[in-house]
Amino acid sequence: MFQLIISWDTLPKFLKQILPQSYTYLIKTFNELPPFQTAEGFEISQFELDAFVDVCDKEKANKWFKDFESRSKTTMPETKRYEIKEKRVLFREKRHCLHSDIVKKKQGNRETKHPQSTRVRNIGCTANIHLRLESWRIKLSHPLEINLKFTHNHVVNSAESLSFRHIDGTVREKYLELFKDGHSPASAMYVYEDELHLSATNDQELLELLADRAKNPDYDYIAKLFQKYHDTELGGCNGSSMFQCLVEVVNSFNNSGRGKAALQEFNADTGKSFILCIVTELMCCVHEKVRQAGELCYMDASSSFEHFNNLIILFYTSCAISALPLGLFITSDEFEVTLEKAINLLKSILPPLSPPSATRR
Ligand SMILES: [Zn+2]
Repeated sequence: MFQLIISWDTLPKFLKQILPQSYTYLIKTFNELPPFQTAEGFEISQFELDAFVDVCDKEKANKWFKDFESRSKTTMPETKRYEIKEKRVLFREKRHCLHSDIVKKKQGNRETKHPQSTRVRNIGCTANIHLRLESWRIKLSHPLEINLKFTHNHVVNSAESLSFRHIDGTVREKYLELFKDGHSPASAMYVYEDELHLSATNDQELLELLADRAKNPDYDYIAKLFQKYHDTELGGCNGSSMFQCLVEVVNSFNNSGRGKAALQEFNADTGKSFILCIVTELMCCVHEKVRQAGELCYMDASSSFEHFNNLIILFYTSCAISALPLGLFITSDEFEVTLEKAINLLKSILPPLSPPSATRR
């Protein structure tokens, strides 16, 4: 039997585009098949490959397969579940291309989301992969067996094929990070796509990145992810989890050394109004360094958050260079008792004044 250990670098070019890097391969058989002609006139190379990879446990086998999907730009859901008897086999999976009949059948009567769409997922592709890790092979240099039938009947990296791919887990995490930073679905998408533009080394790579749903999710997905993030992380408007989240934000702001904040939670049952007082690092500096902070203070109550109709009151002082901010608070109403409470809360977090004006506050 012909067997040859090959490092990734020495693989033929078309296998390099499919097999993940940083592994070595022991090729058992390689059969080149006649190429497939698509209706649009594209020629798709087809082959069968039986090989072993230097992967010796279940987790690494999963990782190899994920790397394979990412490298080959294909999506291959599991189509056959094997009963695993760990004495003999540690890992075994049969998977088919997302565009195959068998995947469609496996998913049963799942409703077609856009029946009028010209995009058809099931185009009878026959490409499949079989992965098997037998216990007795663990001691060998290349334990994981792969039988790949690379017989796609479509261009794997066409915009059409790429638009069906599943979103990459790291991309999802990246979007969640952007939402945590305060981005809306639209602004998160702009920031993320900007990064894609900067990361691409050439136009071809950029086009592939933008078309690949795994790397560049559609707006529908981003909006739904945002909605889910909003519901689980922040809870509904005025819900207790929203205030819990705000308490955490206030605490981390107070611990960050970038200023001070104080909060009174809204509670309709006990009649407590919402109050949030903020003194930023710059405002602290004004209190500590500018003499006028202890002599003159005026309030600007002309701002509000339209969505919740909360009142924002800003405090300023004036000096030779113009107005300087001293602090602000946000309240859910304008009652005298609320404003008095808010002013007292704001006073509790103000830093000490500069010595000459300390006696005048
Ligand atoms: Zn396919």
